[in-house]
Amino acid sequence: MEERIIVIGAGMAGLFTALALARPGRRVDVLERDPPTPTGGADEAFADWNRRGVGHLRHSHAFLARLRNIIRDNHPALLEELRAAGCQEMGFADGLPIVSRDRYRPEPEDEALTVLTSRRTTLELVIRRYVERMAGVTLHSGVNVTGLVGGPDAEGRFVTRGVRIGDDGAEGEETADIVVDAAGRLSQGFEWLSEAGVVFEEESEDAGILYYTRHWRFLPGQTPPERGPIPGAGDLGFIKYGVFPGDNGCFSITLAVPEIEETLRLAVMRPDVFDQICTLLPGIANWTDPARSEPISKVFGMGDLKSRWRSTIHQSQPIALNLFFAGDGLVRTNPLYGRGCSFAAVEAFLLRDTLAEQTDPAARAVAYQAAVDRDLRPYFTDMRTQDRQAIRRARNTLDPAYSPRFKARLMKSFGEDAVAPAIRSDPALLRAFMRGFHMLEPSSTWLKQPSTLAKVLAAWVTPMAFKRRYYPPKLGPDRVEMFATLDLPADADALRLGLVAA
Ligand SMILES: Cc1cc2nc3c(=O)[nH]c(=O)nc-3n(C[C@H](O)[C@H](O)[C@H](O)COP(=O)(O)OP(=O)(O)OC[C@H]3O[C@@H](n4cnc5c(N)ncnc54)[C@H](O)[C@@H]3O)c2cc1C
Repeated sequence: MEERIIVIGAGMAGLFTALALARPGRRVDVLERDPPTPTGGADEAFADWNRRGVGHLRHSHAFLARLRNIIRDNHPALLEELRAAGCQEMGFADGLPIVSRDRYRPEPEDEALTVLTSRRTTLELVIRRYVERMAGVTLHSGVNVTGLVGGPDAEGRFVTRGVRIGDDGAEGEETADIVVDAAGRLSQGFEWLSEAGVVFEEESEDAGILYYTRHWRFLPGQTPPERGPIPGAGDLGFIKYGVFPGDNGCFSITLAVPEIEETLRLAVMRPDVFDQICTLLPGIANWTDPARSEPISKVFGMGDLKSRWRSTIHQSQPIALNLFFAGDGLVRTNPLYGRGCSFAAVEAFLLRDTLAEQTDPAARAVAYQAAVDRDLRPYFTDMRTQDRQAIRRARNTLDPAYSPRFKARLMKSFGEDAVAPAIRSDPALLRAFMRGFHMLEPSSTWLKQPSTLAKVLAAWVTPMAFKRRYYPPKLGPDRVEMFATLDLPADADALRLGLVAA
């Protein structure tokens, strides 16, 4: 008999779940609350696609090599369609610092370090149209899932038999052998389980930043600026920034501001302030030069960014059977690391393998969560550690009385005087580092290799005169200069927090 799988949500996780699970003998129904794609291409989707369910749809997105490799290996025709729609691929060599380019020797493995970039609307449009053509998959738009059908068994596990759909008293039920909740960060799946008496485990904390994005288009005849010594992404402590090459002559700039920097946060929403900041950052000023490009959107802002890990195992037992979670509903990460869509894709394919390897519902539940823990938890922990450090740094920046302790000074020196010059001078080290960045191996693996660690330590003890050229260039004005240029009060937040006397 045909197996039926219902997927809640046709965002990144829902689409990757369909890509992963579709196979003969199985029917996959993807139920999406938002309207269908508009007719037309990438520009129409960017302008007109109403996606109330994905508040971050028009924020900058880059898609890490791990995600691109999943598409390349499982749906090569889709990768061709993404290229044809204007999505760009940036290889390892494109990201080499200018100071070490002449030392670069291409390796076959470099192909697996390629990033995919486009407006998120473009990537999602192309994947969605591809999924809609897949045999055995049906995408239903305008369908709101309002609950789960099922109930607890003798061991308190929620046995899922389908979903409830519809609003306004017009509710109905759809039965399924398996339900995949891919409803994103606002997914209600765990809450529905909780209402049914199921206890689940969750860790959640603020990412500590807010995201601001604006889109531009190159003027006719204009192209991206030549890469110079100053990178198109950087971290000044009180602001992080990045330029995201897009599709079809578009690109976007994202400014990420620590939550604690309230004055800057409020100002940056204004397009004139956003653009002025861009002119003050040498790595992006040449992109937004009015002679080269023009803005095509307002400034999109986004807060409530969290790192959240939810588990479907409680006290070593599965909390639900025939119900799986993928995407932000399961794990949310700080968008700064650009890993959310890769997490969703990885989870979808881990689910495919779990369903292929196990038939017993409880064994499937345990195996899936174990696979997610094994593969993704190290990245999650690493990102959360970095977020905690960044939150502390942002507060210390505002505190005139702050004086770093020995350990903090040592860690800063290791990052700035060892790791940074080492990876900027040696493409082989950068390659090893990028494998972690792109989630091809745990982020810490590269530094655990004795040969790599030896090179980094050698860079640390190298006298400044011999390594000065490998330090990153000055990325932009410091906080005091930036605030003065923007005519913002530099000490307002320190006053608000009581860090300086009124
Ligand atoms: C500002 C920002 C920037 C980001 N940048 C990047 C980046 O550069 N690279 C990267 O990899 N990741 C990035 N991410 C993370 C990434 O966007 C998310 O991880 C990804 O969207 C998660 O996919 P998802 O399918 O779980 O959720 P979504 O993509 O949000 O999709 C959820 C879908 O479920 C639907 N839905 C919800 N409830 C229901 C319901 N009850 N019934 C039916 N349908 C429902 C919604 O309408 C929506 O279509 C960013 C996130 C943010 C916030």
